[in-house]
Amino acid sequence: MASAGRSERAEQLIRECSGVLPSVILRDLLGVAPATLIRWRTELGIRPTLSESKRITSAFLNELPNLNILPLSDEERKRIRLLRLEWMQRRTTGDEEEQQIAVIRLQTARLPTRAIAAILDVSESTVLRLQKKYAVSVDRAQRRRLEHRFATSESCPSAAGLTKLQQQRLVACWREVRRQRAKSDRKANAAKCAFAERLLTSLRALRSERLHQEPSLVLSRCSGECGEQWPRDAAFFVPNWRSEDGLARRCKYCSYERLRRYKGGGRKRRNKARGRVPSESEWSRLRGIVKEYSDLLPGILLRHLFRLGEGTLSRLRRDAGVHLTAAKAKKIRWRWYFRTRSPEFPLLTDKEVARLYLLTKGYDTYTSRRFERDTRLEAYLRSEALKLRQPSSAPQSADVRSCRGCAAVYPALPAFFKQRNGSIEPRCKVCLKHEAAMQRKAQLRIRFSGRV
Ligand SMILES: [Zn+2]
Ligand SMILES: [Zn+2]
Repeated sequence: MASAGRSERAEQLIRECSGVLPSVILRDLLGVAPATLIRWRTELGIRPTLSESKRITSAFLNELPNLNILPLSDEERKRIRLLRLEWMQRRTTGDEEEQQIAVIRLQTARLPTRAIAAILDVSESTVLRLQKKYAVSVDRAQRRRLEHRFATSESCPSAAGLTKLQQQRLVACWREVRRQRAKSDRKANAAKCAFAERLLTSLRALRSERLHQEPSLVLSRCSGECGEQWPRDAAFFVPNWRSEDGLARRCKYCSYERLRRYKGGGRKRRNKARGRVPSESEWSRLRGIVKEYSDLLPGILLRHLFRLGEGTLSRLRRDAGVHLTAAKAKKIRWRWYFRTRSPEFPLLTDKEVARLYLLTKGYDTYTSRRFERDTRLEAYLRSEALKLRQPSSAPQSADVRSCRGCAAVYPALPAFFKQRNGSIEPRCKVCLKHEAAMQRKAQLRIRFSGRV
């Protein structure tokens, strides 16, 4: 019952293949234009909706349908297989890549590689390859910033121009990243807690061993939270070059615990005090400044001047090819403190120069404090002297003497006046200590002044 130029064979094909083969394939088999196929179908009462057509197409591309049940010749079956292969190839190298690169172009500066890969449902290496191919790659520092921002944002970052499915994939990826991060934080913190416990146990064991060997060993109370008393030496207290005896006031356990808590339990928290992450454009400027002024300005000033964290400054230094040892950094600090004239800073803006001036004032005051009289020791000696003047301990306090330096009157005891070669120093401990500090300052000035 063929009509209007259709053969019976054409009608049979349209009837039996329309639900299985996409229109494009059917047209190829019949050798007709798109409008003709639509007209013929309509006349035969076959009107697939758009979503039906799409479903047929994707089913056909996903899996080759069983062609043997269709009224086709071997030649036609072969041709359909070939057409399908070509179509699939075109999709992956052309259309699909075009869609992918559209997303990549838009999101590369906003989302980490992992999130883009999730959106497109491809591997990260595919994203990296395409970014490279289309010259939209970002550098490592930028990638790190994006990863960090993605993993720490309180809600999933919204990305414009995504389909609903892509949006869902993005949210799933963000959740997974957050979950992994929380898990690794917990793990790291648990390991650190366990280490602290082991440390405390080993310190206690060492102390009892020492007390066993030397029962009269003098113990010193830790100023931290452990509430323990330890022998005052480097086995129990961390070194602190600013303290009188070179040891910190907190014991090793308390120092470790304090650091652990301060750093947020497992992972350093990035906050205002820890500095910010400079933008990409700012980074190259900062790198130039760091390269130029690292030998001149102490790191602490550079950090505060640009509100950077220690890690960011060291990355900037590495990026700028600047290598500083601890000894060299110390020299830079002293050179800056004893500078005799203010150097010029052509790379800094006026505002930054003003800020540097203020920071330097604070820094100088802070450093000067190291050479001042030890007022805490002075107050301590006064209170000790007062205690000795109490009637209960009167017999001991008969002999007092006046310091030749500060004229303070203290008992003539080794706690107040140092003994040297059998005789007593004419100046009190505070005065002696201050004199030593002034001598050190004079030596440092000779070594470092005028070298800026
Ligand atoms: Zn302690
Ligand atoms: Zn004195």
